Amino acid sequence: MSAAACFAELSLNHIDGRWVGDAATARPVIDPATGVELSRQAMAGAAEVDLAVRAACRVHRSGALSALRPVERARMLHRMAAFIGANQAQIALTVTLEQGKPLWEARVEVAGAVRFLEYYANLAESLEGRSIPLGGEYVDFTEVEPRGVTAHIIPWNYPFEMTARSLAPALACGNPCVVKTPEMTPLSNLWYARAAEACALPAGAVNIVCGLGASAGAALASHPLVNLIVFTGSVKSGIAVAHAAAENVVPTILELGGKSAAIVYPDADLDAFETNMRYGIFYNAGQTCSAMSRVLVHESKVEELLERASALARALSVGPGVERAEEGLNMGALASGERRDAVLNMVSRARAEDARIIAGGSALGGAGAFMQPTVIRATDPACQIAQEEVFGPVLTVLSFRTDQEAHEIANGTRFGLVAGVFTRDLERAMKTARALRGGQVFVNEWFAGGVETPFGGVGQSGFGREKGREGMMNYVQTKNIAIRL
Ligand code: NAD
Repeated sequence: MSAAACFAELSLNHIDGRWVGDAATARPVIDPATGVELSRQAMAGAAEVDLAVRAACRVHRSGALSALRPVERARMLHRMAAFIGANQAQIALTVTLEQGKPLWEARVEVAGAVRFLEYYANLAESLEGRSIPLGGEYVDFTEVEPRGVTAHIIPWNYPFEMTARSLAPALACGNPCVVKTPEMTPLSNLWYARAAEACALPAGAVNIVCGLGASAGAALASHPLVNLIVFTGSVKSGIAVAHAAAENVVPTILELGGKSAAIVYPDADLDAFETNMRYGIFYNAGQTCSAMSRVLVHESKVEELLERASALARALSVGPGVERAEEGLNMGALASGERRDAVLNMVSRARAEDARIIAGGSALGGAGAFMQPTVIRATDPACQIAQEEVFGPVLTVLSFRTDQEAHEIANGTRFGLVAGVFTRDLERAMKTARALRGGQVFVNEWFAGGVETPFGGVGQSGFGREKGREGMMNYVQTKNIAIRL
């Protein structure tokens, strides 16, 4: 069976419990590993977004979600988790075909989405208000109530898991959702509509619409009936969303890019650090907001680290994700030919700015959007490759002499998403962790954490926290009720 045979010729949007879409608006969804068209996705515009928002608003006002006893919402999410878990193989294949990542990574992504649904299902019953003493003449207490219509604007790099990250807590707290799926990778998200149908959610509680950022995305961000916007994507689009939200005085959560640094002190375990580089920068071909895109290593260890990093880069087998079903030293295609070329342009500029390409640096031949895993030695922390997000399989290595210098280089970009410290010295690790700007610091394991641990940025990496209990609090607001006796 060909890859395209897995999908309908025309993929539809799901609005108010119905599948809708016009072939005339459809855009091709391309497998980046082969260039083959998988399906055509109907594009929503402002009119379809308006229908979706109004459907969600009707659900909210009806109390069909908000008035449920929390355990009912928990059960609903557990049913969705079970449905998605039961379809993991098919969803993972869809993610791989539309996005390019190895099949085993796509399975991890679907499992991550299931965890978000389970975790927030489990937390659904934990939200409570409090009683505030005001003296004998009063009774005062708070209630936490859902915000209302939540808008979710999703990127293409983890299209399935990013949706679960906000959809699960939104539903757990009783908010209906309008999800604007990424135009390059819309197909896996349709499974949330299937899950909502299979689990008998009220029509309009989960709306899945695909459309271009400038039309559907902008229409959603500026819709006056939206009560909360969760945006994950680039800084440029995040700023546009924040402007639109400000016009309606609507809260936003912005999860934007990063240029995250791992600081490697001389006593670090370099054998273990190889594994951290493998996952930190080459997982999902580096298309991860919290990728380890810079390594800052003590000058005494820089040559050894470059040798290890380049051996690792050369050892990765690069090719179609569908042929990479087992976890190992492998990497898939980038999400599109345009993305691959943008990464290669940054590598060329690094070369021109006197950085040394230690491994890789080129495209691989053929129809797919493949490139070599790349390691670059840069000496100037101010050069573009050391400052800007590459969003590709490119590790930039810089060196430092003192701890203070390492902290300054790590903190010396406009971003502040995550950072890492690698040392056997706990005191040094803690001092460094506290000195680094970012929402999360990993000590001795890049990506340590899970759905339970809060995540988000400072500076141009955005604001607000998702995941964990903190993530849940985005979806409720406090109401105080004061009673005069
Ligand atoms: P992007 O900003 O181009 O698109 C993200 C989403 O925003 C898409 O659905 C797009 O259609 C929509 N969009 C674009 N312009 C819009 C507008 N004016 N109004 C409303 N919506 C609009 O980003 P991308 O290239 O798809 O994603 C890559 C970026 O996302 C990287 O910078 C990456 O670091 C970031 N990202 C961050 C996180 C995080 O959690 N911090 C996670 C994943 C990706």
